[in-house]
Amino acid sequence: MDMVISKEQQELKALALKLGVDLIGFCKNGDQQTPLAPNLTNAVSIALKYTDSILESIETAPSYAYFHAYRTLNTYLDNIAYRLARAIEKMGYNAFPVAASQSQGKNAPYNGVVPHKTYAVKSGLGFVGKSGLFISKEYGSKVRLATILTDMPLIPEQPIIENGCGNCELCVKACPAGAIYGELPTTNGERNFSAEKCSEYMKKHFQDVGRGSVCGICIKVCPKNKLK
Ligand code: SF4
Ligand code: SF4
Repeated sequence: MDMVISKEQQELKALALKLGVDLIGFCKNGDQQTPLAPNLTNAVSIALKYTDSILESIETAPSYAYFHAYRTLNTYLDNIAYRLARAIEKMGYNAFPVAASQSQGKNAPYNGVVPHKTYAVKSGLGFVGKSGLFISKEYGSKVRLATILTDMPLIPEQPIIENGCGNCELCVKACPAGAIYGELPTTNGERNFSAEKCSEYMKKHFQDVGRGSVCGICIKVCPKNKLK
């Protein structure tokens, strides 16, 4: 990709890496604009990786270690997103850090405040798999995401990559809820799995771990995870 990255964008990236992000990408917000910050038309996508050992602890049910890591990564991402937003403000622009895990509330309980996965895809960090999970180039599905919306001029550094699921159906077969249908994501942003079935199953069967809010089986089985 032929591009000239501004010194400010380079500084922001260097700060994010110093703060510990595993992945960072940049994109134009475009039609994904949120009413929360309608004038912030660019986005920074950041990701943190679960350790391999944490994911190994998931078997036919989530482990307490995985649930704790899920919350730890959310908090860690929120902290980094806020620090990056403040750094952007100090450069003279507006910035809106979006929490890693925050739904739109009662009216849309399965939709995040902004679609973190869409921003990560547009930033060239990976693709959305048949599982509905974001699959990063480097670490497969072993990541969590957050986003910073901004009016700082940003140039995407990496091209958007194609879906890489191919004929794989491991997540379809492994999902105990039957929530993954084996469909590729559409370009109109419609969900390609049932968040309702997933949530109902977790609430019913994994209430003792994380109050039924985590599972992790489809994350663990994905062959795009390059376990060392
Ligand atoms: S988190 Fe569990 S229940 Fe939900 S889609 Fe993945 S495997 Fe299925
Ligand atoms: S398990 Fe296979 S089909 Fe499911 S997201 Fe991963 S690569 Fe795609």
